[in-house]
Amino acid sequence: MSIKIYLQRLQKLIPHTWLEQIQDIHSSLLFRWIVRKGSQPIAFTQKSAMVFSPHQDDETFGCGGMIALKREHNIPVIVAFLTDGQGAGTSEVNTPDKIIQIRKQEAVKALEILGVKSSEIHFLEKPDGTLPYLDEREREQTIIQVAALLKQYQPEEVYVPHRKDCHRDHEATYQLVKAAIAQAGITVDLLQYPIWLFWRAPLFILLKLQDIAAAYYLSIASVQDKKTQAISSYCSQIESLPRGFIQRFSSSHEIFFKSDS
Ligand SMILES: [Zn+2]
Repeated sequence: MSIKIYLQRLQKLIPHTWLEQIQDIHSSLLFRWIVRKGSQPIAFTQKSAMVFSPHQDDETFGCGGMIALKREHNIPVIVAFLTDGQGAGTSEVNTPDKIIQIRKQEAVKALEILGVKSSEIHFLEKPDGTLPYLDEREREQTIIQVAALLKQYQPEEVYVPHRKDCHRDHEATYQLVKAAIAQAGITVDLLQYPIWLFWRAPLFILLKLQDIAAAYYLSIASVQDKKTQAISSYCSQIESLPRGFIQRFSSSHEIFFKSDS
């Protein structure tokens, strides 16, 4: 049995509340270490951006500060959501269609706070949780849709979840967007944002150094309030997220990993 599988099995034996506490400590230590020692500052650029988000909230958690900073300088930012967000831990009283509507409204509200108009938001509405399991035809269709958006807006920077973000939809988003960039034949700066990476990666020792190499931090202190407000728009999500998870994203820094597009 590999150490990774062993640790994953071990995690299942730990009481849920303990596990969340361990993950909280692990996540904040790793985040602080990366900001202080394992990364370099990234210069704020005037480059237009396109953010690909698997679910309605990842864009705000991962890139909310960057989005607000760019929009304050009137730099174009387009946001595209790949899934409909239906699988989120929302109330049982809502039907799946209602959950989809709620999450859309929350996304529009959060992004309005960050300075993105509803006309600059795209919902691709793939069923939540299915991105890694799309059949060949659906996968190709999704890549064509993403490539069409890239060709339409010609962003200079593209933001995607980290390629090893410890969540299947997130890792699949990275792969789909990467394939779409190749299909669109455009050159962009590709930046990966971590959402679950620090939280779920089973302990430091299993994070390979190359997974957290090329890390950059962006100071978002001047727009921190906007980001906090935008996060609070996601009312349907807040209660279902692990303890300490939201605090991790209330920092005055955002971390990005550069990779070749
Ligand atoms: Zn997500």
